[in-house]
Amino acid sequence: MKADIVTIFPDFFRGPLDYGITRRAQEIGLAKIEAHDLREFTHDRHRTVDDRPFGGGEGMVLKPEPVFECLESVGVVPREERLAGRVKQSVILLSAQGERFTQKVAAELALLDRIVFICGRYEGVDERVGDFLADRELSIGDYVLSGGEMAAAVIVEAVLRLLPGAVGNAASTQQESFTVGAKIKELGGADSTCGSNGLLDYPHYTRPAEFRGIKVPEPLMSGNHEEIRRWRRQRALEKTLRNRPDLLQGAVLSEEDSTFLAGLKRSADEGGRSGSTRNSTAVIRNLDSRF
Ligand code: SAM
Repeated sequence: MKADIVTIFPDFFRGPLDYGITRRAQEIGLAKIEAHDLREFTHDRHRTVDDRPFGGGEGMVLKPEPVFECLESVGVVPREERLAGRVKQSVILLSAQGERFTQKVAAELALLDRIVFICGRYEGVDERVGDFLADRELSIGDYVLSGGEMAAAVIVEAVLRLLPGAVGNAASTQQESFTVGAKIKELGGADSTCGSNGLLDYPHYTRPAEFRGIKVPEPLMSGNHEEIRRWRRQRALEKTLRNRPDLLQGAVLSEEDSTFLAGLKRSADEGGRSGSTRNSTAVIRNLDSRF
């Protein structure tokens, strides 16, 4: 995969993508990341990339000309061909107003050969870039950053680790939070692991078995794969309910999962105020229709 990043701060990318899996993916030739300095595509003495907004208002706006020229110079195929799916390329504008970037979008992007990221700054980018040059706008969350660089780095990292061969143990990227349609067994994963199927991941522990008097949960020490699998699944369900109840609505749930959630709901209805159901009572009551 080739990732081209259009930015006024190309040096920003010297650091964050030079570690761990993204570094390894580049070293073994799975991915190439190139940052392009937008100022190289200006034609005035001051290398101006921004201007005042038409209609008045605060701040400055990134001008369209350098962005269009930069894209022409990196040589992506025309937008119509990309949108028609004739090539595995995409041009992405980073924007707080974009579609939310999720693990599902990361998996889609990991199937491409080439992605161009356009990083905004100031008040944003002239809208003609989004309307006529980019294929989609992506936001990494409901907050406003000062520029698209951090967002581009987040997306590159999330996508590169999904490329086949990027992570030593392929099964590990299949059992993680948000992942739907996991192929853990096919990829040689252990019997005791379970895919999140759209939930949050289950809790992980390592040695020592007891630390400052806090013991690793019994089922994990039992050696019984089925008991471990069930314990992990139930903790994933509880944690999802507690921290991200919205994920439960779209998750793939087995009959066993539904029975477990119904049990949580029953104890919440009975006024259960202990342990993991403590903060979830209202949420569980709202799950009525399904459990
Ligand atoms: N005026 C814009 C608004 O209110 O939506 C915010 C502009 S922001 C200060 C400057 C640039 O940072 C944006 O053009 C975009 O490239 C990037 N950016 C800010 N927040 C982002 C987010 N949540 N996801 C992706 N990019 C973001």
